[in-house]
Amino acid sequence: MNATRPSVLSSSSHSLQPIVYSLLLPLAYSLILAGCRPAQEPLRVQWLTMGTVAAVQCAEPADAPQSRALAQAAFDEINTELSAWSNDSILMKVNSAAGSPEAIPIPPTFNTVLRFALAISDESDGAFNPLIGPVMRAWGFNGTASRPSPPEAAELRAATALADWRTVQFTPLTNGTALRLPTAGMQLDLGAIAKGYAVDLAWEQLKAAGHTNLLIDLGGNLRAIGEAAPGRKGWRTGVRNPFEEGALMGVFLMRDGEAVATSGNYERFVEIEGVRYAHILDSRTGTPVTGMAGTTVLAPTAMLADALSTTLFILGPQKGAALLHTHPGCEALWIPDTPTNLTVFATPGMAARLTPIGKIPYTLTVITPHAP
Ligand code: ADP
Ligand code: MG
Repeated sequence: MNATRPSVLSSSSHSLQPIVYSLLLPLAYSLILAGCRPAQEPLRVQWLTMGTVAAVQCAEPADAPQSRALAQAAFDEINTELSAWSNDSILMKVNSAAGSPEAIPIPPTFNTVLRFALAISDESDGAFNPLIGPVMRAWGFNGTASRPSPPEAAELRAATALADWRTVQFTPLTNGTALRLPTAGMQLDLGAIAKGYAVDLAWEQLKAAGHTNLLIDLGGNLRAIGEAAPGRKGWRTGVRNPFEEGALMGVFLMRDGEAVATSGNYERFVEIEGVRYAHILDSRTGTPVTGMAGTTVLAPTAMLADALSTTLFILGPQKGAALLHTHPGCEALWIPDTPTNLTVFATPGMAARLTPIGKIPYTLTVITPHAP
């Protein structure tokens, strides 16, 4: 990690959990698959928020209303600060002021999420890039009109030049931090990390309120407390088959405290001249990432799982395994976009934990995190 940025990853307040491995996760479903006695079936409550599906599953059904309310309060807090849709969010104020001399004061949570994101940019050499906004817009994402044709090379060069994550300016204030994007047109987009952070905040607040056995899900970013029923040792979760709507490829157990995130090419995309372009872009080239259908990451926190699932989607298994070398406690699964003769890649811990299910045949290749 670049020494010029605070090492937010290693200063995470969450201790590493006993390493759990396996996984995949279906966006928006966190499934309870094991047969359990009906009287102990957890209650799942789901609702729409932040442009996606949120859910809590509670081992004790009577906990559900309060759990939902506490989780939503945490999500609202993050949305107010980091939403890329609401013109009132602090993130949008920072984006609007790009290129002006004004530095915008940001709250501590914003500072934490952005510094964490920039640390992942440093260690991935910019594959992960929270300044991706102009590149997203060039392809017709983030509220821009759909494009009749793909952007020209010159437009992509201009957009990638604006995605310079090394130029973000933090100014210490007596009571916090102010943020400035130095060039007009620069735009933060924390869509690859903010939901994970929101889940961590909800998880901490639910724990502080005394909740003991539940699973939080915000758009496929999951974090567990306790277990689904006595003796279950966690929450069973399904890994979605990216090639078939509603189908699963495998299941795994999430243990107490663990987080899981999935990135995929199948949920959000634009269509230009009949070609689908998915919403994860490589800011070094300005182009949508191709070749990967989905990645799933198990990590000690939901923010790290969220950031890494996007990063590993871009890097692929070989370079991704090198990055994981510096992230003990994380496990990953890569599903290439090759449904015929499918070979999926998994870290050793993930391979050990994953139980394949469903109709799709695949070969599993174990890839061990290694020094670059
Ligand atoms: P989802 O938002 O569907 O859970 P991800 O966590 O993978 O999926 O985040 C994808 C989002 O991340 C995109 O919609 C966009 O907002 C943002 N993004 C796209 N490309 C990058 C990138 N190279 N680095 C960081 N964020 C990105
Ligand atoms: Mg992500």
